[in-house]
Amino acid sequence: MNPPLPEVVIVGAGPAGCTLAAMIAKRGIPVLVFDDEKRPDLLVGESLIPAVVNVFRHLDIEDRVKQFCQYKPGASFFTTGGDKLHFNFMSVKGYLPPYSYNAPRPELDNLLRTRAEELGARFVKARAELERCDRNGEPSVRLSAQSRSVAGLPEGHDPLLIDSSGRARTFSKLMDIPAVKGKRNDVAYFAHYENFVHDEVPEGQIIISVLTQGWSWRIPLPGRLSVGVVINKEHLKDLGDTPEERLGNIIKREPLLRDKGANARRVTDVMTYTNYQLLSERGHGPGWILLGDAFGFVDPMLSPGLFMALEGARLLDEHVFAKGTSILKEPTALKHALEIYSKNVVEWHNAWMSLVEYFYNGEIFRAYQGGQQLSRTYARWHWVRLLERHANFQIAAMASGGKTRSRYSQGFLRFLCQHLVKDVPPAVTFAVH
Ligand SMILES: Cc1cc2nc3c(=O)[nH]c(=O)nc-3n(C[C@H](O)[C@H](O)[C@H](O)COP(=O)(O)OP(=O)(O)OC[C@H]3O[C@@H](n4cnc5c(N)ncnc54)[C@H](O)[C@@H]3O)c2cc1C
Repeated sequence: MNPPLPEVVIVGAGPAGCTLAAMIAKRGIPVLVFDDEKRPDLLVGESLIPAVVNVFRHLDIEDRVKQFCQYKPGASFFTTGGDKLHFNFMSVKGYLPPYSYNAPRPELDNLLRTRAEELGARFVKARAELERCDRNGEPSVRLSAQSRSVAGLPEGHDPLLIDSSGRARTFSKLMDIPAVKGKRNDVAYFAHYENFVHDEVPEGQIIISVLTQGWSWRIPLPGRLSVGVVINKEHLKDLGDTPEERLGNIIKREPLLRDKGANARRVTDVMTYTNYQLLSERGHGPGWILLGDAFGFVDPMLSPGLFMALEGARLLDEHVFAKGTSILKEPTALKHALEIYSKNVVEWHNAWMSLVEYFYNGEIFRAYQGGQQLSRTYARWHWVRLLERHANFQIAAMASGGKTRSRYSQGFLRFLCQHLVKDVPPAVTFAVH
């Protein structure tokens, strides 16, 4: 018997596309995914936040995730001056899972794909080809005749198209949809290492360090350490000509990396990422929707990427597909549901952008120092201990993908950064240059 014709066609089998495919298939809606099968051995997106664990649980895959991922209890932030800010996800216990995972990406992507297939999603091994067209006088996209044939779509059958092609931004490019760009002009280099000392406790804790130029991540994975540096393009001049030279030189020069990496051995190529802070000006139109990086990407700082890809899928599932396939035949209802989806994604994006900025401009480190000083001075005062616990919870819950969009949490953080900073050095002392 032939499989039912897909109501939804997804372009791209990364985390966003596979998660949405799994969620739609779970509802019994026929869905087909174009998978170009490009899964390099090395991919960024390894450090996950606690809110992602909720999606793993929803898809019933956490037990399998555990088998190849490193348990992640939190994140430590180091500044050039030697200060340290230690986040433990335990402070969000009861509100979110109090931990997350560091994930080797190819394995995670494969698992999400396998799960989508188990739930009934169909995959075709092919790169989707798309063409620009008009629908109801508005720009839109359709699959080429060749791709329709690969997908087995008969004449007249017109499924909803989802762009989850990542930073290729396939639909936006075809329709000339502009993107709002963030203000940073960084380039990121990263690779995996063996014997790179990682003695931060508890085990699995990631390290983010402000460097003399830019910042770096160190993410422990089973058997190796992922080391990445993010640096303004202006600083590249005297670092060498190739990505390998540049990453190697930064590790040798930076005091926070030099000793730890002295005997390290690079075991992968060095990957380069650039121009990634983008948000498409539209998220949907007649017959099409953007999802994951194809809609927008915030910044590697605080690791919101995978969460945004998975949360985008969850939002689409909640606002559109939970209503069944009938909504796909009702243009007004569909448009209304997609407006809610897009508005939510844009709100998430803006909330992450503003939270990330506190780490780039150094204000979060300054408020932390102010808080430490207050706790030392008034150690015996009950309200000071309560304030400390509340501040830890609010900030950790924002960085974990729980309270990131909460007006109260945002206001509270602003308050701390304005009023908790008496007699501490200016924020620029801790900023990423
Ligand atoms: C420097 C840097 C560091 C990062 N670090 C982190 C981190 O620590 N934690 C985190 O959560 N996130 C991180 N991210 C972000 C994260 O990698 C992305 O947000 C995430 O991969 C987005 O998933 P996606 O499914 O939208 O896109 P992708 O993962 O890019 O998947 C898109 C897929 O679509 C395929 N495709 C493209 N065109 C077609 C086509 N025409 N037909 C068929 N298939 C197609 C591609 O080959 C790819 O497999 C980082 C990003 C950068 C730039």
